[in-house]
Amino acid sequence: MTNCVNSREVGYKDLVKIAVQLNSETDLNRLLALIVREGNALVQAERTILFMLDHENHELYSKAWSGQDENEVRLPVGRGIAGMVAFDGEPIMLNDAVNDPRYSGGLFGHNVQSILTVAVKTSDGSITGVIQCLNKVAGSFEGADLELLTAFCDLAGLAIERTTFALEQKRLSAQLIFQAKHDALTGLPNRLMLEESLEKALEDAKRKKHQVAVLFIDLDRFKMINDSLGHTVGDALLQQVACRLQKGVRFTDIVARQGGDEFVIVLSVVKNLQSVNRIAESLLKALQEPFIVSGQELYISASIGISLYPTHGENVTEILRHADNAMYKVKDQGKNNFRFFVKDMDESEQRRLWLMTQLHKALELGELLLHYQPQVDIEQAKLVGLEALIRWNHRELGLVSPGEFIPLAEETGLIIPIGAWVMEEACRQAVEWQNRGLPPVRVSVNVSALQFGRDDFIDTVLHALDKSGLDPQWLELELTEGLLLGDTHSIAAKLNQLKEIGVYLAIDDFGTGYSSLRYLQQLPIDTLKIDQSFVRTLGTVQESPKTKALLKTIAMLGHNLDMRVIAEGVETSQQLDYLEEIGCQEIQGYYISRPLRVQELEGFIRQGGWVSRLNKPGAGRNVIPIQKWA
Ligand code: C2E
Ligand code: MG
Ligand code: MG
Repeated sequence: MTNCVNSREVGYKDLVKIAVQLNSETDLNRLLALIVREGNALVQAERTILFMLDHENHELYSKAWSGQDENEVRLPVGRGIAGMVAFDGEPIMLNDAVNDPRYSGGLFGHNVQSILTVAVKTSDGSITGVIQCLNKVAGSFEGADLELLTAFCDLAGLAIERTTFALEQKRLSAQLIFQAKHDALTGLPNRLMLEESLEKALEDAKRKKHQVAVLFIDLDRFKMINDSLGHTVGDALLQQVACRLQKGVRFTDIVARQGGDEFVIVLSVVKNLQSVNRIAESLLKALQEPFIVSGQELYISASIGISLYPTHGENVTEILRHADNAMYKVKDQGKNNFRFFVKDMDESEQRRLWLMTQLHKALELGELLLHYQPQVDIEQAKLVGLEALIRWNHRELGLVSPGEFIPLAEETGLIIPIGAWVMEEACRQAVEWQNRGLPPVRVSVNVSALQFGRDDFIDTVLHALDKSGLDPQWLELELTEGLLLGDTHSIAAKLNQLKEIGVYLAIDDFGTGYSSLRYLQQLPIDTLKIDQSFVRTLGTVQESPKTKALLKTIAMLGHNLDMRVIAEGVETSQQLDYLEEIGCQEIQGYYISRPLRVQELEGFIRQGGWVSRLNKPGAGRNVIPIQKWA
């Protein structure tokens, strides 16, 4: 007998100490090692093994050994001594193993004679593992050893349970943290984590005095693919994009998904601009390679805006915003490219860029509408025309002035679809008014140089007329002088074609453009619209004899060339008087009416209140009776 009463007393006392030790161990592997070590010492075994239960496979596997580790052993629950204990939880003590029918031998070396095997249970009594103590000497365990080890196993079970639970908690909270900071679709860091990581990268760069680059990447045709092929395809594409982006940068750089089809890359250590250029170029190239999603080839491209720390910004917000700005600039300039932020983009530039992106959506969101401003014949006190003036009712900003967004639309090329829409809508409205019984008046539509210059401009006009059914004589196109410069021959040809169709042609803002009067004689123009800047000074302290002379000349010129002359921006009766005096027969301006919404216009026409403003004693007689329009 190797065990003596004395050592067992020590064993019981030790149990308390062991309990404290087990309880203070937080690492599962260290805990298991401690269990086999202490269990072994407790019953004075030569070797002790801890098996854990693999619930899924209904197997035990050796997890910890006192002394040297050995290869993992697996045995089915119910088979072998340990398997049997794991099966019903009843301990087994063998003191003459080789002669015991339950012992099939062979498992743990040779000469094992005494085996003490006890189940390890959790607080609810379920078995989580088995401890097996071995001795080469037969008859080395007694009932007291069994009791001691059983008590020990209960402690061990609780300790394992506590540690595993803590571990699981830790794992769960780590998972939650991961989820909060990562994008579920691509597994990339999300915006939150991006901001944190960028913050760190910037701090690092400040200390070590190097640069950081932020690349804001927006896919160019993603929306179209997503809308036409469905979200599943879109999602798979985004995942592949995420992979390509990650492959395109160093392990230490950050690739994050900002949301939608926007990604952000942080190059945390930048040595020189060339390296950033190279990376941006290679990313663009990588994204141009076809993607295979559900068996079909998809092609996209990307627009990349880049900002640098410290050149383009000092903090996370600034750096990200500037990279974003630069990205929009790329979009506006034809996409599939990259560019660096330009530092002197000021507030107004930023608003401009933002408006550009908003304008893209304005048409499809139905935010564009037309107001109409009356044009009247002074002599006859008659409404002769309505100028269609576009309005953009932005959902957040309210009305944005065309003075602000038309130049943007021209810069981005959006003026083409917008212009086509204006033409169609104005024609449609004109026909609707005629159908409602209002006498026909000419509707004037402003045409931008970019629209006019296109080969399909005539088609656009024809299409609008066709679609609405408007008789061409009720449509007037307002062209600016600048638009008539260039290849006189082709311009003349286009204007002649338009005249053949039967629409009217006006020169808008006349007098402000290039003062080549030759075109007036050569081109088939019907109307001169005197720019408001000349009219505005009339009757004010700025009124000058020169301006007055100029106005007079224009009026005469118009007469002599057999053109209508209309003055824009007439606000006062003095202005009206002077214009009448010099023989300008038509006016448009706040004095008669501001541009009106469609709903207001009918009232304006029916009531005819403006006639009295013409201040002409005999006006009533010449007026086309307004009442008849009703
Ligand atoms: P525009 O064609 O010369 O239009 C006349 C502008 O003068 C309009 O400004 C009108 O509201 C304003 N106005 C009229 N009477 C008075 C007045 O008595 N006093 C003052 N101070 N202003 C007056 P709006 O509507 O802001 O349009 C500005 C410009 O935007 C237009 O100048 C035109 O060049 C352009 N625009 C408007 N709609 C369109 C469009 O559908 N297509 C294109 N390409 N350009 C458009
Ligand atoms: Mg105009
Ligand atoms: Mg004008």
